[in-house]
Amino acid sequence: MKIVHNASILGLAILTMMSAAAAVDYQAEGRSWWAHIQYLAGDKLEGRDTGSAGHKLAAQYVAGEFERSGLKPAGASGYIQPVKFDVSHIDEPASSLDLIRDGKVQRLKLGEDAAFSLRSGIAPAFEGAAVFAGYGFAVPEHKYDELSGLDVKGKIVVYLSGGPKSIPGELMSHYQSAGERWKHLHALGAAGTVVIANPKSMDVPWERAALSRFMPSMSLADPSSDPSADPSADEPAGAMLSVSFNAANADKLLAGSGHSIGEILAAAGSGQPLPKFPLMVRIRSKVSVKKSAAESQNVAGILPGTDPKLKDEYVVVSAHLDHIGVGKPIGGDSIYNGAMDDASGIASVLEIARHLQQSKTKLKRSILFLAVTGEEKGLQGSRYFATHPTVKAKSIVADINMDMFLPLYPLKYLVVYGLEESTLGDQMKAVAAAAGVELQKDREPERNIFIRSDQYSFIKQGVPSLFFKFGNLPGSPEEKMEKEWLRVRYHAPSDDLSQPVDKAAAARFNEMIRELTVRAANGTAKPAWKKESFFRRFEK
Ligand SMILES: [Zn+2]
Repeated sequence: MKIVHNASILGLAILTMMSAAAAVDYQAEGRSWWAHIQYLAGDKLEGRDTGSAGHKLAAQYVAGEFERSGLKPAGASGYIQPVKFDVSHIDEPASSLDLIRDGKVQRLKLGEDAAFSLRSGIAPAFEGAAVFAGYGFAVPEHKYDELSGLDVKGKIVVYLSGGPKSIPGELMSHYQSAGERWKHLHALGAAGTVVIANPKSMDVPWERAALSRFMPSMSLADPSSDPSADPSADEPAGAMLSVSFNAANADKLLAGSGHSIGEILAAAGSGQPLPKFPLMVRIRSKVSVKKSAAESQNVAGILPGTDPKLKDEYVVVSAHLDHIGVGKPIGGDSIYNGAMDDASGIASVLEIARHLQQSKTKLKRSILFLAVTGEEKGLQGSRYFATHPTVKAKSIVADINMDMFLPLYPLKYLVVYGLEESTLGDQMKAVAAAAGVELQKDREPERNIFIRSDQYSFIKQGVPSLFFKFGNLPGSPEEKMEKEWLRVRYHAPSDDLSQPVDKAAAARFNEMIRELTVRAANGTAKPAWKKESFFRRFEK
């Protein structure tokens, strides 16, 4: 009787396990994922701006969930790693930007013609000559240099965003990052930069992008994170002027040079090289900045591995907790909730942690779950964690980062950034094959996605990383949905809880990322850059 009884329980257990393996309830999993977003992207958290009370509540929520999932605290105190910031606000009425031509002054309209970028700590006042330098960057590996033969000494370098199609996307992204670009221009003696934003590579129209100039600019206050002291920092230091210019009004800059913005955009569109020429204008700036200080939070928790040696190595699973807070109202709404950007990624981190703990999945390496602050301020929280890790610096072996993966439709295609760069990519290929999901190449390298989220902070410390986005087919309704989402909801108050999201598709995505995490944790060798990968150079 007893034996039979036990056997029937065992049989039932096996049956339950089998049915669980055969049919995951993605609808229910999707609802569980969405529940986190409902809290994090609710109006109460006021858009989780870096340094705000809403962000602090979000950090406490994540710490609470980490604790419920049995993670070991891995912050500086408990799960929290405090991060201190210097904050700059533009005082626009007290600032000005002028073009001087033949002694005549043309005052530009800030916001309409151009906007100052404060992140580089620009000079309070400057005046200088300007030169148009094509795309304004160089890629030594491809013997490509837009600056060769140009005299930029003491001048403002004006350039068009984007680059030639002939250069691989990830490489181009790296050299176009603010830090790399400025390193090169600074060495040539340039005084500052004006970027003309190519409307084709902008995620949102100029009018909406320009609103972000009222949001505070932040840099890490920790002196050991000072960009000039950290050669891997993504921050330009020593620029007198940093401005972005509305392409629609860029002929104001080009007048008298014999070139027009129409001609330059047409050349860019058809893949022709861009002209380079001196501008017949001097640029004069006056910048008034209000300064303050802020503190925000990274949140970290560890699911320990069990292998006596490998448990001291960490696979990081990350997403950013911050969004852009409260801003100029659009359609009567001023709370920028950031549901997809990036409450969605945080919800995935929480779900993966919960699942791995509940299923008692055997892990050789440890997993470090990480929610970072300050992503929207220039990957600041992740840079702080990557340069001030709460575990031994060299023990981080991978970063699997999720930011705005956009589950707007069923998961058939996935774009994986960094796929060909490391063995982590090979593990992802195996995961995708098993899930029946087709991996896609990045069709829009000009958007520089690979360097635009927190994985880049880890890449610069030599850590192999991957980053993901739902894919689609060219010309498909899904592609249209994605483009429409970027145009209307990206960094707008409508990235909120009322938008349609395919929650079951998100649950399938979470399952794939969880599977990747397990493979990275249990692989015999730790993830490594491919021999031929450009990013291998950051290995320490
Ligand atoms: Zn964002």
